Amino acid sequence: AEAELIRAQRFESLAMLAGGLSHDLRNLLQPLLLAGESLQDYQDDPRLARLGKLVRDCGRRGLDMVQSMLSFARGARRAEQVRVGALLDALNLLLQGSVPRNIALTLAVDDPELSFSGNHTELQQCLLNLSLNAIQAMPGGGELRIEAAEQALTREFFLDGESADEGRYLRLSVADTGCGMDAATLAHLYEPFYTTKEGGTGLGLLSCKRIVASHGGAMRVESAPEQGTCFHLYLPLGVQFDDIPEGEDDERLLGNA
Ligand code: ADP
Repeated sequence: AEAELIRAQRFESLAMLAGGLSHDLRNLLQPLLLAGESLQDYQDDPRLARLGKLVRDCGRRGLDMVQSMLSFARGARRAEQVRVGALLDALNLLLQGSVPRNIALTLAVDDPELSFSGNHTELQQCLLNLSLNAIQAMPGGGELRIEAAEQALTREFFLDGESADEGRYLRLSVADTGCGMDAATLAHLYEPFYTTKEGGTGLGLLSCKRIVASHGGAMRVESAPEQGTCFHLYLPLGVQFDDIPEGEDDERLLGNA
């Protein structure tokens, strides 16, 4: 499961990087292309015109590459009907090999038949991420509890800037009885590359948040030092996606997450 997660995280950060890069590159290449185009019409100096054509052609090729990079980043984001039972079964299977003996794993699913529109792989990756973080937070053992339940949320629940709205949600919670977090860690949790672990990527939670946001949902955490931590993911029920939309606030998330 660790290897699986690292692969998924790599892919996710690659997609994130590709998305961010594409945007920046496009802004660079477009003026280059335009400059090349006007230079190639330069009548007075054939050499300059040839260079202009070269610049234009390279600009075009670059833009094409950016386009395919963008479709690659989006290609991983097909929506499907996700069944809660299937999601947790798959997670359970992935976790079997990773949960040490001194950790008691519980999965509690209200209604396994509940289903919603989303991306199974991405959400599984979120849960796996959170679960492995939880396991790492309990080196001396403890309890890992994963819950899925339907919950109605009112408008007051959501924070400024969250695109989610009131309605029916699936709550997926991952709770541990581990080391918990202090205020400083809580404040930086979703910053890219923020990690307190040797060899940590600091991308796990950001990637979760991004995935949840692109599903039109929200993420919350409760934590107390030496008590434990609980992450909640809220995913809207009864919403139909064709494609999981590009996280519209990706840049906001990356900028000042
Ligand atoms: P990484 O796991 O690579 O450090 P994450 O983005 O997943 O990256 O987590 C960032 C930081 O948040 C961790 O380094 C850790 O300090 C803290 N953290 C995340 N989950 C937990 C948890 N369940 N218990 C305690 N601390 C946690």
